Amino acid sequence: MYDYTPRPDLLAGRVILVTGAGRGIGAAAAKAYAAHGATVLLLGKNEDNLNRVYDEIEAAGHPQAAVIPLNLEQAQQNQYNELAAMIENEFGRLDGLLHNASILGPRTPLEQLTGEQFMQVMQVNVNAMFMLTSTLLPLLKLSEDASIVFTSSSVGRKGRAYWGAYAVSKFATEGLMQVVADEVDGITQVRANSINPGATRTAMRALAYPGENPASNPLPEEIMPLYLYLMGPDARGVNGQAFDAQ
Ligand code: NDP
Repeated sequence: MYDYTPRPDLLAGRVILVTGAGRGIGAAAAKAYAAHGATVLLLGKNEDNLNRVYDEIEAAGHPQAAVIPLNLEQAQQNQYNELAAMIENEFGRLDGLLHNASILGPRTPLEQLTGEQFMQVMQVNVNAMFMLTSTLLPLLKLSEDASIVFTSSSVGRKGRAYWGAYAVSKFATEGLMQVVADEVDGITQVRANSINPGATRTAMRALAYPGENPASNPLPEEIMPLYLYLMGPDARGVNGQAFDAQ
């Protein structure tokens, strides 16, 4: 695991939006951020999952979270605008954005991947991420120390057969991270970096590797040191880099 020990109040006073916060790695990150003092905005498609994470954060006595149900496959520009306005009005700031929500799409040879399947993956994994980034950047730029964390994959750094749209979407993720990082470099207190979580025990991993023993991979909670490091002030000045959580 990435070697970092966060102090308990690492994220005190910060407001952090996590996409795909209802389960898997996103839920672990949301709870880890809240446990370190952040007010976490839980965005996802399934409201029941988000409510469950909200309740866990409340029961643990961490800062009260907020639930933002949004289907990233269907969201339109006006919904992103409303989201930015809501965050500004109700929280007055945004210090962190974890782009975590993704879908795997079919794992199949390119010839068998339909245009519709390809575009669905790109819509959730890339287009929605761009929409969120561009709409929320003005708010992030007002923070004295803001962090955007993008979620990549090993197939977002080297393409691999049958990983189709998902691999392409993760290359685009690295690309968007680099463009954002270069645009903010030296001008604002915003930084942008990417994380490859590595094999992690979630529903997506089980879908991609049905024959694998899930217990052979770490739990999402175990890969949190890097997620905390990049979100907090110890990573100030770290910009445009691609990290591995394991
Ligand atoms: P899961 O499949 O377990 O969780 C995916 C999350 O994305 C869910 O919270 C889901 O929300 C959300 N999501 C999916 N579609 C939408 C949508 N249309 N609108 C809003 N939210 C949506 O994935 P993991 O936790 O495993 O993966 C998290 C990230 O890590 C992803 O970016 C993935 O590509 C990456 N990754 C994971 C690896 C692993 O081994 N697990 C390895 C490498 C990268 P909901 O509950 O509402 O459906």
